[in-house]
Amino acid sequence: MSNSEELERALARYVGAEIGPPAVGPDLVNAPMVRHWCEILGDANPVYTDPDVAARSVHGGLVAPPTMLQVWTMAGVALAGGGGPAADLQQELHALLSEHGYTSVVATNCEQVYDRYLRPDDRVTATTVIEAISPEKTTGLGTGRFIDTRTTYRDAKGERVAWMTFRVLKFKPAQPAQAASPAAAPAKPRRLRPLRSHDNDWWWQGVARGDLLIQRCAECGTLRHPPRPMCGACQSLRWDSVAASGRGVVYSHVVMHHPPIPGYGFPLAVALVELEEGTRIVSNVVGCAPDAVRIGMPVQLEMQDVDEELRLPLFRPVSGAAEEAR
Ligand SMILES: [Zn+2]
Repeated sequence: MSNSEELERALARYVGAEIGPPAVGPDLVNAPMVRHWCEILGDANPVYTDPDVAARSVHGGLVAPPTMLQVWTMAGVALAGGGGPAADLQQELHALLSEHGYTSVVATNCEQVYDRYLRPDDRVTATTVIEAISPEKTTGLGTGRFIDTRTTYRDAKGERVAWMTFRVLKFKPAQPAQAASPAAAPAKPRRLRPLRSHDNDWWWQGVARGDLLIQRCAECGTLRHPPRPMCGACQSLRWDSVAASGRGVVYSHVVMHHPPIPGYGFPLAVALVELEEGTRIVSNVVGCAPDAVRIGMPVQLEMQDVDEELRLPLFRPVSGAAEEAR
């Protein structure tokens, strides 16, 4: 039996299976968690947070936002990070696919349907079934398999309150062309490639020519970065661009030590640079010790070829600025 037939047979055993015992919500549905959630998302609907308004509403009392559904049974950070319960069947399936080269994962679809509003003191329990595993598909990200799960949420009486389908693509990341050549020496790790699209490709082409461009609204003249289709000030879709002078100041910064992502030097000075034109750009500060970077430090653009195909707009303290900041 071939490797791939073996894998098919192994995968088939997961389809239709529950991933583990029901996930029981660690907390009852409760007003404080609802209030925090509404504050963070800016949801001002008073039926979620104001008992008096809620009492007079069609609900007759406080209810939880339906889209909080996953919150109630979600494992805490400590549990999700290990040291928690034994691995479930879904984790086992992901590990199996990783062993066969499908090492990356991305969520692609989620659908939720609500049977009723949840209310304070509801106890939510979730059961998840692996519904389907697709044959191998080729996507822009790489070759992979879609995994569909369906989670059913129930209350303390066992009545269904909602359900959710979730689809992920578990895939073999597309390899850069050079890595495909067996003769090539192991490639030196390189920086992550920027995500280029219809909306920002022109900007990267500018960088390749040595120009740091700033998108400008052709209607109202407002500058914007990063590139995007619409002006946030007047909603115009018409735009052109101007070349930045390259002068700016450090608006904010961090020095990154962990995780040590391959292709980058650590410690890594990551800065939000405010250009003198007014827009801000995330970049790295080079040419001084990472711990010498200071808010307000004047910096100057330095286009750098960080490898054979990637040029990046980096920034260097203008002469003397790093010493003065100490
Ligand atoms: Zn505009």
